[in-house]
Amino acid sequence: MAKLEFNLENVQKCICKTCPVQANSACVKSKQMKVQEMMPKLIAGEMAPKPEMIPGLYCAHGKTMCADVDFEEMCQCNECPLWEEYDLSNGEPMGYYCRDGEAI
Ligand code: SF4
Ligand code: SF4
Repeated sequence: MAKLEFNLENVQKCICKTCPVQANSACVKSKQMKVQEMMPKLIAGEMAPKPEMIPGLYCAHGKTMCADVDFEEMCQCNECPLWEEYDLSNGEPMGYYCRDGEAI
């Protein structure tokens, strides 16, 4: 499997932003709002995304730092464009990267 890079392009492809696991997390919402504010600078290349800023792309950087997520809900990673692109179904873990850590 090619290394899945933590970069803005992949952040934008990631569908964790609409995942029910995170839907009711105040911690995630707060991070999402900050990311929206920073997006013009991120797009302009004036700053680089950092894993602790982004509530997504867990397959590239590992577990969430938000404690108020709900792992009883269903992971959506298998609907993400990066799932196919990086053949994540043949890696470990298979989804729930926010809970179980980055894809290897
Ligand atoms: S596979 Fe999952 S964690 Fe990785 S970018 Fe897609 S939705 Fe986000
Ligand atoms: S890694 Fe899976 S379970 Fe976690 S937020 Fe992303 S889509 Fe949801």
